[in-house]
Amino acid sequence: MIVDVLTIFPEMFEGPMSTSMIGLARERGLLEFRTHDLRDWTSDRHRTTDDSPYGGGPGMVMKPEPLGRAIEAIQDLDDEHAHTVFLTPSGRRFDQSTAEELSAHDRVLFVCGRYEGFDARTLSLADEELSIGDYVLTGGELAAMVVTDAVARLLPGVLGHEDSAVDESFSTGLLEYPQYTRPAVWQDIEVPEVLRNGDHAKIEAWRRRKAVELTLARRPDLLEHAELTSEENAWIEREKDHADSQPEED
Ligand code: SAM
Repeated sequence: MIVDVLTIFPEMFEGPMSTSMIGLARERGLLEFRTHDLRDWTSDRHRTTDDSPYGGGPGMVMKPEPLGRAIEAIQDLDDEHAHTVFLTPSGRRFDQSTAEELSAHDRVLFVCGRYEGFDARTLSLADEELSIGDYVLTGGELAAMVVTDAVARLLPGVLGHEDSAVDESFSTGLLEYPQYTRPAVWQDIEVPEVLRNGDHAKIEAWRRRKAVELTLARRPDLLEHAELTSEENAWIEREKDHADSQPEED
C-alpha cells in the first residue's frame, strides 16, 4: 500500500512513521509512506499557504491553488488513483471498520488542514472527509498518523501473527477480553484459573463471555451491531433487567 500525505509539516511524521511496526512495515516494503510539503506548490516568495477568510472572522483559511496543484501532482506520481482523504473535524467519524475499508485501497492520500481549515471549494477534491473524534486539533497531521497507524497494522504481514488483529477490540463488534501474562500472581491478584489449565475450548468460552460482559459494561452501544448468539442475547437481557430493578443510588 502507498500512503501519501500532503502537509505543511512533513517533519512531524519522521519519528512516528519510522518506529516499531510501522517502521518495520516500511522496511519490509509492505507500506510505502511519502510526505509532500504543500509549500512546494506555492507561487510566492514567502511560500504562503493561507489567506484571510471571505466575510471576515478570526483565523486564516488554506489557499485553494497550492492545494489543488499539489493534489494533482501527487495523483500523477502513480497510475493508480489515490483515494483522497481530507482530515477534518466535520468528516465521517473514523473507526475500525473505516480502517478496514481504507486498508483495501492500494493508494491513499491524506490531506492535512491547518489554520481554520480548508477553503470549502477544495473539498470537492476529496473522495471522503474523515474526523478522528469530536475535538479540534491544531492540524490534520496527528489525525493522518492515527489513521495510517490503524490502517497499516491491518495490512497482510505487518503484525507478527496473522490472527493478532482478528480478536481485537471492535474487530468482532465487541471490546477485547482481558489479557494477562506472567507472573501468575502479582500484587496478590491471580490470573484466572481457566487461562492456566490449557483447556482451549474453556479458554475460548471464558474470553467470549468476558468480551460480552466488558462491552455491556462500557460500550453497550456496540452490542446493537455485534454478532451474538441467542444465549448471549438472553444473558444480556437478564443483566439489563437486573440492572433496571436495582434501586438508584443517591
Ligand atoms: N475551523 C475548523 C472547524 O471548526 O471545524 C477547525 C480547523 S482545525 C484548527 C485545523 C485542521 O486540523 C483541520 O483543517 C483538520 O485538518 C485538522 N483537524 C482538527 N481536528 C480534527 C479532527 N478531530 N479530525 C481530523 N482532523 C482534524
